Amino acid sequence: MREIHSVLRCRQLLRSHRRFYGLAASKQMKNAAEGRPKKIKFFVGSQRSNVEALKREKHLENSPGWIEAFCSQKENDLFVRVDTDFIRDQFNLHGLSNEVLDYHGSLRDILETYRGYFDEEAQKLYGLIHRRYILSTKGLEAMARKFKHEEFEKCPRSCCEDQTCLPVGLSDDPGVSTVRFFCPRCEDVFDPIAVQHRSVDGAYFGPTFAHLLLLTHPMEIKPCVKHPSSSGYVPRIFGFKIHKPSASSDDMEVA
Ligand SMILES: [Zn+2]
Repeated sequence: MREIHSVLRCRQLLRSHRRFYGLAASKQMKNAAEGRPKKIKFFVGSQRSNVEALKREKHLENSPGWIEAFCSQKENDLFVRVDTDFIRDQFNLHGLSNEVLDYHGSLRDILETYRGYFDEEAQKLYGLIHRRYILSTKGLEAMARKFKHEEFEKCPRSCCEDQTCLPVGLSDDPGVSTVRFFCPRCEDVFDPIAVQHRSVDGAYFGPTFAHLLLLTHPMEIKPCVKHPSSSGYVPRIFGFKIHKPSASSDDMEVA
Protein backbone atom coordinates (compact mmCIF):
# COMPACT_ATOMS: atom_id res chain seq x y z
CA MET A 1 0.00 0.00 0.00
CA ARG A 2 2.85 2.36 0.94
CA GLU A 3 4.51 1.53 -2.36
CA ILE A 4 1.37 2.48 -4.32
CA HIS A 5 1.19 5.81 -2.48
CA SER A 6 4.87 6.48 -3.28
CA VAL A 7 4.31 5.78 -6.98
CA LEU A 8 1.22 7.99 -6.97
CA ARG A 9 3.11 10.81 -5.21
CA CYS A 10 5.97 10.58 -7.74
CA ARG A 11 3.51 10.80 -10.63
CA GLN A 12 1.84 13.86 -9.10
CA LEU A 13 5.22 15.55 -8.56
CA LEU A 14 6.20 14.84 -12.16
CA ARG A 15 2.96 16.36 -13.43
CA SER A 16 3.40 19.41 -11.13
CA HIS A 17 6.93 19.90 -12.45
CA ARG A 18 5.76 19.86 -16.05
CA ARG A 19 2.90 22.24 -15.28
CA PHE A 20 5.17 24.63 -13.29
CA TYR A 21 7.28 25.39 -16.33
CA GLY A 22 4.18 26.12 -18.37
CA LEU A 23 2.63 28.36 -15.67
CA ALA A 24 5.86 30.31 -15.18
CA ALA A 25 5.96 31.12 -18.86
CA SER A 26 2.29 32.15 -18.86
CA LYS A 27 2.87 34.73 -16.09
CA GLN A 28 5.83 36.21 -17.93
CA MET A 29 3.87 36.48 -21.18
CA LYS A 30 1.00 38.19 -19.33
CA ASN A 31 3.36 40.78 -17.79
CA ALA A 32 5.03 41.43 -21.12
CA ALA A 33 1.64 41.94 -22.79
CA GLU A 34 0.74 44.55 -20.17
CA GLY A 35 3.91 46.53 -20.90
CA ARG A 36 5.61 45.79 -17.59
CA PRO A 37 8.80 44.06 -18.64
CA LYS A 38 10.75 45.30 -15.56
CA LYS A 39 8.40 43.40 -13.25
CA ILE A 40 8.90 40.05 -14.93
CA LYS A 41 9.66 37.38 -12.35
CA PHE A 42 12.10 34.64 -13.19
CA PHE A 43 10.56 31.43 -11.91
CA VAL A 44 12.92 28.97 -13.53
CA GLY A 45 16.25 30.29 -12.33
CA SER A 46 18.03 31.70 -15.38
CA GLN A 47 17.24 33.89 -18.35
CA ARG A 48 17.99 31.10 -20.79
CA SER A 49 15.58 28.67 -19.14
CA ASN A 50 12.90 31.39 -19.11
CA VAL A 51 13.32 31.87 -22.84
CA GLU A 52 13.03 28.12 -23.28
CA ALA A 53 9.88 28.08 -21.14
CA LEU A 54 8.39 30.84 -23.31
CA LYS A 55 9.20 28.83 -26.41
CA ARG A 56 7.56 25.76 -24.88
CA GLU A 57 4.46 27.79 -24.01
CA LYS A 58 4.30 29.16 -27.55
CA HIS A 59 4.63 25.62 -28.87
CA LEU A 60 1.78 24.45 -26.60
CA GLU A 61 -0.49 27.17 -27.98
CA ASN A 62 -0.19 25.55 -31.39
CA SER A 63 -0.45 21.96 -30.11
CA PRO A 64 -3.49 19.78 -30.77
CA GLY A 65 -5.62 18.40 -27.97
CA TRP A 66 -4.45 15.23 -26.22
CA ILE A 67 -7.22 13.12 -27.80
CA GLU A 68 -6.47 14.31 -31.31
CA ALA A 69 -2.74 13.72 -30.85
CA PHE A 70 -3.33 10.26 -29.36
CA CYS A 71 -5.64 9.13 -32.18
CA SER A 72 -3.18 10.44 -34.78
CA GLN A 73 -0.49 7.98 -33.66
CA LYS A 74 -0.02 5.07 -36.05
CA GLU A 75 -0.42 2.48 -33.27
CA ASN A 76 -3.73 4.07 -32.21
CA ASP A 77 -5.45 4.01 -35.60
CA LEU A 78 -8.15 1.62 -34.33
CA PHE A 79 -9.45 4.22 -31.86
CA VAL A 80 -12.02 6.93 -32.53
CA ARG A 81 -11.99 10.36 -30.92
CA VAL A 82 -14.16 10.20 -27.83
CA ASP A 83 -16.51 13.18 -27.54
CA THR A 84 -15.29 15.40 -24.67
CA ASP A 85 -18.91 15.88 -23.52
CA PHE A 86 -19.03 12.12 -22.98
CA ILE A 87 -15.84 12.28 -20.89
CA ARG A 88 -17.03 15.25 -18.83
CA ASP A 89 -20.21 13.38 -17.85
CA GLN A 90 -19.22 11.68 -14.58
CA PHE A 91 -21.96 9.09 -15.06
CA ASN A 92 -20.01 7.64 -18.00
CA LEU A 93 -16.82 7.32 -15.93
CA HIS A 94 -18.36 5.58 -12.93
CA GLY A 95 -15.92 3.09 -11.37
CA LEU A 96 -12.92 4.04 -13.52
CA SER A 97 -11.20 5.91 -10.67
CA ASN A 98 -10.30 2.49 -9.24
CA GLU A 99 -8.74 1.32 -12.51
CA VAL A 100 -5.89 3.85 -12.89
CA LEU A 101 -3.32 5.54 -10.68
CA ASP A 102 -3.73 9.32 -10.39
CA TYR A 103 -7.19 9.24 -11.97
CA HIS A 104 -7.76 13.01 -11.78
CA GLY A 105 -4.34 13.87 -13.25
CA SER A 106 -4.91 11.39 -16.08
CA LEU A 107 -8.36 12.79 -16.78
CA ARG A 108 -6.95 16.34 -16.85
CA ASP A 109 -4.26 15.24 -19.31
CA ILE A 110 -6.86 13.73 -21.66
CA LEU A 111 -8.98 16.88 -21.71
CA GLU A 112 -6.09 19.30 -22.12
CA THR A 113 -3.59 20.27 -24.80
CA TYR A 114 -1.07 17.64 -25.84
CA ARG A 115 2.20 18.39 -24.00
CA GLY A 116 4.51 16.18 -26.01
CA TYR A 117 4.13 12.94 -24.07
CA PHE A 118 1.48 10.29 -23.43
CA ASP A 119 1.34 9.27 -19.79
CA GLU A 120 0.82 5.52 -19.45
CA GLU A 121 -2.08 5.84 -16.99
CA ALA A 122 -3.76 8.53 -19.12
CA GLN A 123 -3.60 6.17 -22.11
CA LYS A 124 -5.13 3.38 -20.04
CA LEU A 125 -7.92 5.66 -18.81
CA TYR A 126 -8.65 6.81 -22.37
CA GLY A 127 -8.80 3.19 -23.52
CA LEU A 128 -11.30 2.28 -20.82
CA ILE A 129 -13.44 5.33 -21.60
CA HIS A 130 -13.18 4.42 -25.30
CA ARG A 131 -14.63 0.95 -24.65
CA ARG A 132 -17.71 2.56 -23.08
CA TYR A 133 -17.98 5.28 -25.71
CA ILE A 134 -18.09 2.86 -28.66
CA LEU A 135 -21.19 1.26 -27.13
CA SER A 136 -23.01 4.62 -27.20
CA THR A 137 -24.97 5.78 -30.26
CA LYS A 138 -22.31 8.34 -31.24
CA GLY A 139 -19.46 5.93 -30.64
CA LEU A 140 -21.12 3.17 -32.67
CA GLU A 141 -21.65 5.62 -35.54
CA ALA A 142 -18.00 6.68 -35.43
CA MET A 143 -16.78 3.06 -35.48
CA ALA A 144 -19.31 2.15 -38.21
CA ARG A 145 -17.74 4.88 -40.39
CA LYS A 146 -14.28 3.39 -39.85
CA PHE A 147 -15.65 -0.06 -40.74
CA LYS A 148 -17.33 1.28 -43.87
CA HIS A 149 -14.10 3.01 -44.91
CA GLU A 150 -12.27 -0.31 -44.40
CA GLU A 151 -9.92 1.14 -41.78
CA PHE A 152 -9.73 -2.11 -39.80
CA GLU A 153 -7.77 -5.23 -40.66
CA LYS A 154 -9.01 -7.73 -43.27
CA CYS A 155 -9.83 -11.41 -42.73
CA PRO A 156 -6.86 -13.59 -43.75
CA ARG A 157 -9.12 -16.37 -45.12
CA SER A 158 -9.34 -16.47 -48.91
CA CYS A 159 -13.04 -17.37 -48.96
CA CYS A 160 -13.83 -14.17 -47.04
CA GLU A 161 -12.47 -12.11 -49.95
CA ASP A 162 -10.76 -9.37 -47.93
CA GLN A 163 -13.72 -8.84 -45.65
CA THR A 164 -13.06 -5.98 -43.22
CA CYS A 165 -13.06 -7.20 -39.61
CA LEU A 166 -13.97 -5.47 -36.36
CA PRO A 167 -11.69 -5.08 -33.31
CA VAL A 168 -12.76 -7.13 -30.28
CA GLY A 169 -11.47 -7.79 -26.81
CA LEU A 170 -11.77 -11.17 -25.15
CA SER A 171 -12.29 -9.47 -21.79
CA ASP A 172 -13.40 -6.15 -20.32
CA ASP A 173 -10.46 -6.29 -17.93
CA PRO A 174 -7.26 -4.53 -19.03
CA GLY A 175 -4.09 -6.60 -19.27
CA VAL A 176 -5.88 -9.89 -20.05
CA SER A 177 -5.40 -10.07 -23.83
CA THR A 178 -4.46 -7.92 -26.77
CA VAL A 179 -6.96 -6.82 -29.39
CA ARG A 180 -8.30 -9.43 -31.86
CA PHE A 181 -10.29 -9.05 -35.06
CA PHE A 182 -13.71 -10.57 -35.64
CA CYS A 183 -14.68 -11.45 -39.21
CA PRO A 184 -18.44 -11.13 -39.85
CA ARG A 185 -18.23 -13.64 -42.74
CA CYS A 186 -16.54 -16.67 -41.18
CA GLU A 187 -17.45 -15.45 -37.65
CA ASP A 188 -13.99 -16.23 -36.35
CA VAL A 189 -11.40 -14.11 -34.53
CA PHE A 190 -7.81 -13.51 -35.56
CA ASP A 191 -4.67 -12.08 -34.06
CA PRO A 192 -3.64 -8.73 -35.54
CA ILE A 193 -1.52 -8.86 -38.68
CA ALA A 194 -0.20 -5.29 -38.37
CA VAL A 195 2.70 -5.03 -35.91
CA GLN A 196 1.40 -1.79 -34.39
CA HIS A 197 -1.80 -3.54 -33.23
CA ARG A 198 -0.13 -6.45 -31.46
CA SER A 199 0.34 -4.58 -28.20
CA VAL A 200 -3.06 -2.82 -28.12
CA ASP A 201 -5.12 -3.96 -25.13
CA GLY A 202 -8.34 -5.73 -26.14
CA ALA A 203 -10.15 -4.22 -23.13
CA TYR A 204 -10.19 -0.88 -24.97
CA PHE A 205 -12.73 -2.43 -27.39
CA GLY A 206 -14.29 -5.16 -25.25
CA PRO A 207 -16.29 -8.29 -26.15
CA THR A 208 -19.60 -6.51 -26.88
CA PHE A 209 -18.84 -3.70 -29.32
CA ALA A 210 -18.35 -5.64 -32.60
CA HIS A 211 -21.56 -7.65 -32.21
CA LEU A 212 -23.60 -4.67 -31.05
CA LEU A 213 -22.44 -2.81 -34.16
CA LEU A 214 -23.54 -5.67 -36.44
CA LEU A 215 -26.85 -5.90 -34.59
CA THR A 216 -27.60 -2.18 -34.80
CA HIS A 217 -26.16 -1.65 -38.30
CA PRO A 218 -27.44 -4.58 -40.41
CA MET A 219 -25.29 -5.13 -43.50
CA GLU A 220 -25.39 -7.57 -46.36
CA ILE A 221 -22.55 -9.92 -45.52
CA LYS A 222 -22.35 -13.24 -47.34
CA PRO A 223 -21.30 -15.98 -44.90
CA CYS A 224 -18.18 -18.01 -45.61
CA VAL A 225 -19.49 -21.59 -45.59
CA LYS A 226 -16.12 -23.19 -46.30
CA HIS A 227 -14.66 -22.22 -42.96
CA PRO A 228 -17.09 -22.05 -40.07
CA SER A 229 -15.56 -20.72 -36.86
CA SER A 230 -12.80 -23.04 -35.67
CA SER A 231 -11.42 -21.06 -32.74
CA GLY A 232 -14.35 -21.77 -30.44
CA TYR A 233 -15.05 -18.05 -30.20
CA VAL A 234 -18.57 -17.31 -28.95
CA PRO A 235 -19.94 -13.85 -29.85
CA ARG A 236 -21.62 -12.15 -26.91
CA ILE A 237 -23.39 -8.87 -26.23
CA PHE A 238 -23.21 -7.72 -22.61
CA GLY A 239 -22.35 -11.30 -21.68
CA PHE A 240 -25.27 -12.91 -23.54
CA LYS A 241 -24.76 -15.35 -26.41
CA ILE A 242 -26.04 -14.35 -29.83
CA HIS A 243 -27.91 -16.75 -32.08
CA LYS A 244 -29.75 -16.59 -35.37
CA PRO A 245 -33.42 -17.54 -34.92
CA SER A 246 -33.73 -19.54 -38.13
CA ALA A 247 -31.83 -20.55 -41.25
CA SER A 248 -34.07 -18.33 -43.38
CA SER A 249 -33.33 -15.21 -41.36
CA ASP A 250 -30.05 -13.36 -40.94
CA ASP A 251 -31.36 -11.19 -38.12
CA MET A 252 -29.45 -11.80 -34.93
CA GLU A 253 -31.02 -12.14 -31.54
CA VAL A 254 -29.51 -11.96 -28.10
CA ALA A 255 -30.44 -14.85 -25.82
ZN1 LIG B 1 -13.35 -14.42 -42.42
